[in-house]
Amino acid sequence: MKSIDQADFKGKKVLIRVDYNVPLDENFEVSDITRIQRTFDTVNKITKDGGIAILMSHLGRPKGVINDSFSLKHIISTVSDVFGKEIIFLGDVLADDTLAKVNALKPGDIALLENLRFHSEEEKGDFDFAKKIARLGDIYVNDAFGTAHREHASTATIAKLFPGQAYAGYLLYSEVFHLDKILKESKKPFTAIIGGSKVSTKINILRILLNKVDNLIIAGGMSYTFLSAMGVEIGDSIWEPEMIPVAKEIIKKAHIIGVNIYLPIDNVCADKFDEDANTFITIENHIPEKWMGMDIGPKTIMRFANVIKESNTILWNGPVGVFEFDKFSLGTKSIALCISATTIAGAFSLVGGGDSIAALTKYHLSDIVSYISTGGGAMLEYLEGIELPGIKALNEN
Ligand code: AMP
Repeated sequence: MKSIDQADFKGKKVLIRVDYNVPLDENFEVSDITRIQRTFDTVNKITKDGGIAILMSHLGRPKGVINDSFSLKHIISTVSDVFGKEIIFLGDVLADDTLAKVNALKPGDIALLENLRFHSEEEKGDFDFAKKIARLGDIYVNDAFGTAHREHASTATIAKLFPGQAYAGYLLYSEVFHLDKILKESKKPFTAIIGGSKVSTKINILRILLNKVDNLIIAGGMSYTFLSAMGVEIGDSIWEPEMIPVAKEIIKKAHIIGVNIYLPIDNVCADKFDEDANTFITIENHIPEKWMGMDIGPKTIMRFANVIKESNTILWNGPVGVFEFDKFSLGTKSIALCISATTIAGAFSLVGGGDSIAALTKYHLSDIVSYISTGGGAMLEYLEGIELPGIKALNEN
């Protein structure tokens, strides 16, 4: 991958693929600006060097149809605030007047195209669609790590249309650097904390991590499939019966290769999946019928904390409970605090996944961990050793 430090942007129209797939609240206000902020250095470098920055992104899943709820116009004022200047909205990439609007831009300008996923060709990686985007720029820069695992027109196909002129932005570079640090230079003991709702979405990463970590903490909704596989009663907790053989295989393999697996030993239970549910904390692991595990209990928090605080490398993906509801957020908050405190004591910590990042933000701990990856799925696939299409396209350029 060539870095943008190797490019000459003066007077050039630079198509920058960013990942501004940011959460919007009910008033269409951006509720987390992290992904926009993290592209600042790249865009700033390009405009300072006299280039014209043409930002392009997707937002949500409009599935190939124009839908105002997914319009990137909703984020313009936030992007303007982040960059401290007016952002010119170009509208749809295929509109008749878009090229003219682009040609009217001046060096130092920052412009934003409409949601590329309003065209189904984007997600299909369509070559003709990529050509239509490419006609708007002289240079292509990819800074969208969060979408680098997708082989889409604007993330992968388009690079072929800029031979020798396709570059990786600072964010993409930095993500790869920090993930490689975890993969190749992790200091032991290495502890991974994997939470979230389902085993099925994280089987591959669990298998890969087994070969890298000393301690694997499995928590959140996915832990109940593991506990069930071990014969623990899990009541009405979320679980995936078809994943029981996989859970058993992971537990067995960990035992053979000497990786410590840690699962919850007590649980905060609810009688319904609701903020107003009745709750109680189990004395030990078993959860009675009609109750569901919604968070780790105090004994589990202490146990996980003891493992985390002895670690030199920490990877965290996925909340350990339904932290969106305050009643079930103590586990996730405690893990976030413990990772932060261990980082202050000298460990390297890397956190990824939308919910874990939201938890760090909620508890004002984002600046304390060593690195926050902007890619959930992309981060997991990179750690699994998959060459991400967005990165492959730049490597082959
Ligand atoms: P994921 O997208 O797989 O990382 O899952 C994140 C979601 O897992 C969050 O919305 C959490 O509320 C949810 N989650 C965590 N713990 C549990 C649990 N014990 N039961 C149900 N959902 C959970």
